[in-house]
Amino acid sequence: MKVYKFGGTSVGSPENMRSVMEIITADGEPKIVVLSAMSGTTNSLVEISNKLYAGDKQAAKALIDTLKQKYDKVVDELYTTLEFKSKGQEVISEHFSTLYDQVEGTFTEVKEQIILAQGELISTALVTYLLQENGIKTALLPSLDFMRIDEDKQADLPKIKELIKPVLDKAGPQQIYIAQGFICRNAYGDIDNLQRGGSDYTASLLGAAIDSEEVQIWTDIDGMHNNDPRIVDKTTRVDNLLFVEAAELAYFGAKILHPLTVLPAKDANIPVRLKNTMSPSDPGTLISNEKIDSGLKAVAAKDGITAIKIRSYRMLMAYGFLRKVFEIFERYKTSIDMITTSEVSISLTIDNVKNLDHIVDELNTFSEVEIDNNMTIVCVVGDMKSETNFSKQIFDALEGIPVRMISYGGSLHNVSILINTDNKKQTLQKLSDHLFYN
Ligand code: ADP
Ligand code: ASP
Ligand code: MG
Repeated sequence: MKVYKFGGTSVGSPENMRSVMEIITADGEPKIVVLSAMSGTTNSLVEISNKLYAGDKQAAKALIDTLKQKYDKVVDELYTTLEFKSKGQEVISEHFSTLYDQVEGTFTEVKEQIILAQGELISTALVTYLLQENGIKTALLPSLDFMRIDEDKQADLPKIKELIKPVLDKAGPQQIYIAQGFICRNAYGDIDNLQRGGSDYTASLLGAAIDSEEVQIWTDIDGMHNNDPRIVDKTTRVDNLLFVEAAELAYFGAKILHPLTVLPAKDANIPVRLKNTMSPSDPGTLISNEKIDSGLKAVAAKDGITAIKIRSYRMLMAYGFLRKVFEIFERYKTSIDMITTSEVSISLTIDNVKNLDHIVDELNTFSEVEIDNNMTIVCVVGDMKSETNFSKQIFDALEGIPVRMISYGGSLHNVSILINTDNKKQTLQKLSDHLFYN
């Protein structure tokens, strides 16, 4: 059974929800359909939580009121029969009364998670009723019953595999199974989530859990483009990507995919297809293990990077230095993205600065440390082995740009370049012009 996932814009209006209905029923095959919250909803829910953390209950209530008005209108336009209009209104009353309940008393992280979950809970309930109103045999699979993360907040695939089976058995034979993206329970049984943009990850985890033949991610663009279309002038769809290439692009900032989406699919060798809800006949991008195209494929950029330069107090040949450095990062559960070394110093990058002060204190006991904030990693992805001229092309493109670090060789699919975020737009544009449109 295939797993389809539709993002926020794809379920962002009654009209788009009807397009989703057409797409998922076109071939008559049963499928699991993972849905995000309607576009803008999770942002509003985050804002409501922020107001509550700040103690501003009035402002939080006002935001909930505004959101409710939007949903009342959606229900009104979505259904044709009185029976389903009334079912839709029940969904809205139930979930908004949950939202209003969280405003009372002291605000906690548990309440925040309950608030953030409502977007997907509402969109899936509404679409399930839409399908049922149109005579399509549909069951709603509650993701909170089977999506799990462990104590380290990592997806717990063995547990998901174990839990999804009885849920599917209980739902019985259906044409469509709908499930919430993004939301899950944590190791303590509380509501949690897979981080922003996490519905893509839900789809690939579910795909791996049921040993699906294909995962399709449906969004508002026709596939993975060779650069960020929000930043550079001209971009083109990439037709085929290897899992490793797509994983690097997603991890290093291509927003079309949650950073971890590709991994479960890669491990289970399940092809992932990126498709456009607004133009379903476009072929999209196919991500698989099969090498179809070679050469440089795409560029992506990840902001919010901190660079750390660590210089050993002892000079050359100080063995054990790297081990000491890495142990500190490990102890503070801080992962390193890029790393380059010279005889007596290392430069590395992190994106999680929660424990930076402690890390620096410990590093200072045996080394001198310099920190640069507001950095961006730009990542050029493709088959460098087949592209012997790539380094010249990349260096030519970077002419005039102050580069802080360059890393190549960790994989033959990626060259990472660290720059100041102020130079990001210019760097992406220059790489685009030189690598793809020269
Ligand atoms: P959804 O709500 O469907 O999950 P997202 O907004 O998360 O959609 O992802 C789709 C968006 O990702 C596109 O509209 C596009 O602006 C952005 N994007 C960033 N980089 C890329 C890229 N390399 N290729 C395609 N889209 C990209
Ligand atoms: N609704 C969630 C978000 O906006 C998850 C998703 O859309 O993938 O982050
Ligand atoms: Mg997304």
